[in-house]
Amino acid sequence: MKPLLINGEWITTSHGRDNINPSDISDVIDVYAQAGIAETQAAIQAAAQAGEKWGHSTPQQRHDVLLRTANEILQRKDEIGRLLSREEGKTLAEGVAETTRAAQIFDFFAGEALRLTGDKLASVRPGVEVDVTREPVGVVGIIAPWNFPIAIPAWKMAPAICYGNTVVMKPAELVPGCAWVLADILHRSGAPAGVVNLVMGPGSVVGQEMLENPRVDAISFTGSVATGARVGDACMKQMKKVQLEMGGKNPFVILDDADLETAVECTVNGAFFSTGQRCTASSRIIVTEGIHNRFVEAVIDRVRMLVVDDALKSTTQIGPVVDETQLQQDLDYVAIARAQGGNVRVGGEELRREKQGFYFQPALITDTQNTMRINREEVFGPVASVIRVKDYDEALHVANDTEFGLSSGICTTSLKYASHFKRHAEAGMVMVNLPTAGVDYHVPFGGRKASSYGAREQGSYAREFFTIVKTAYTAP
Ligand code: NAD
Repeated sequence: MKPLLINGEWITTSHGRDNINPSDISDVIDVYAQAGIAETQAAIQAAAQAGEKWGHSTPQQRHDVLLRTANEILQRKDEIGRLLSREEGKTLAEGVAETTRAAQIFDFFAGEALRLTGDKLASVRPGVEVDVTREPVGVVGIIAPWNFPIAIPAWKMAPAICYGNTVVMKPAELVPGCAWVLADILHRSGAPAGVVNLVMGPGSVVGQEMLENPRVDAISFTGSVATGARVGDACMKQMKKVQLEMGGKNPFVILDDADLETAVECTVNGAFFSTGQRCTASSRIIVTEGIHNRFVEAVIDRVRMLVVDDALKSTTQIGPVVDETQLQQDLDYVAIARAQGGNVRVGGEELRREKQGFYFQPALITDTQNTMRINREEVFGPVASVIRVKDYDEALHVANDTEFGLSSGICTTSLKYASHFKRHAEAGMVMVNLPTAGVDYHVPFGGRKASSYGAREQGSYAREFFTIVKTAYTAP
């Protein structure tokens, strides 16, 4: 059984949970110890105690831990990437790429540890000096979703540690494996006891204790809107600092003047790669009349060629859906779309493969309206719907007509429309002639409206959440 990490010690518990491969449900990757309230409280206590020293550690110490971690992840990227694909179901190439990304994030924040600046100003009062500095927030509770098993823990843990915080990390129940490896690497890379704690277990137990325990100073959460709203409420009650990254219903606009090949590739990549299980996935494809039919036929041809199979096979382009519940959700939404008048032109069915897993044929649904449930609610699978519009103005209106605002894309050769869209898309991230999913790690990540709440993640903007500002006045 893979144990919990609390105060620098590996702790087993009486209760374990199987980590199952969605490409082959007979393959149990390992059993992961499950924390209860007592273990979660011990982890929080350890983090609070460790913070007294780590909060005053030197930038060099933080840099060294983060850089060693980055180097080991990179060195082991094939092995960890394989574990990732085995537990989550994205293809091996995607698993290795995500692992490489995690290493790059640790490398970036190793450098950031040496670059934290403050301000020194003259006071408006004679002879007085003012210093504005940034201090750690304290104990950060990290609650992660299952769809990026290593990148999301990395982009929360690396800045937390970089800025002198201590961490209690709770991975999603379905993917404890990569978070476990990450905690082990950090531990061996010199993170002192209690700086990094790993508590696997259910959200309703471990997560809830992190929200309710007054010794947790901040919560960085990524997951669904429903859970995020509960997390936000609980944090407000205790005035905890909180950052919420949630769902999306990301539009991808295709104008008549678009390059057809670019439009098709961006759509297929944005909607279906990583099995469509990305918060930035394109799910509403908004297409103007002149290109609509040519575009739809080309996407259907492309989708028919996609190889859906075991994530670990080198020929696979789309891995399985993460579990049975998600598979059922994908099937249900296809049925809902059909019942409301959508035309399922390709895919939308469960597939059988050599091994028993959760295989689903990516679906393209045409003739949909933006008011239909398929265009209002997040499916979180390889399901995209097409909305036909008259012109750019209508396309922009439809793109913005959603409660979400994470990523918004456009495919056009017109500078005029591209520039206008960049300014008027109501989203945290805008893509021109690029898929809505796929971002850099050195710039801010996050959304607007129901997609995000609080300070941005990633890049140097991460310091807004992971530090707290102090203003000090000194008279001679
Ligand atoms: P989820 O909301 O079901 O779970 C997320 C995490 O919250 C899990 O670790 C879960 O155990 C925990 N949790 C559940 N109940 C809790 C409680 N009462 N208290 C504290 N924690 C609790 O989400 P999921 O199914 O794991 O992930 C999919 C969702 O994540 C999608 O909506 C997707 O769009 C979103 N997501 C968003 C981003 C982003 O950056 N915006 C990135 C990836 C995924």
